[in-house]
Amino acid sequence: MSRVLIVIVIFMVIYLLLKYYRKQIPKKDVPSDEKSEHRENMVRCAHCGVHLPKGESIAVDHKHYCSEAHRRAHIGEPE
Ligand SMILES: [Zn+2]
Repeated sequence: MSRVLIVIVIFMVIYLLLKYYRKQIPKKDVPSDEKSEHRENMVRCAHCGVHLPKGESIAVDHKHYCSEAHRRAHIGEPE
């Protein structure tokens, strides 16, 4: 009977530890400052409408494009 009690106590400790760590993880992984900063840096391709980070886009005349091919296609330049 004492073995059963030990097993129950072990499971309760594991459960409480998991519960404790789950509360800690979201705060560390998604800081609110970083999240809002990430959203501000997203731009939309003027040709296909896909969203991509500003740093990866091609900016021409205040418009952003996801690739060189879409920039050409949008201004009517042959590929
Ligand atoms: Zn595009």
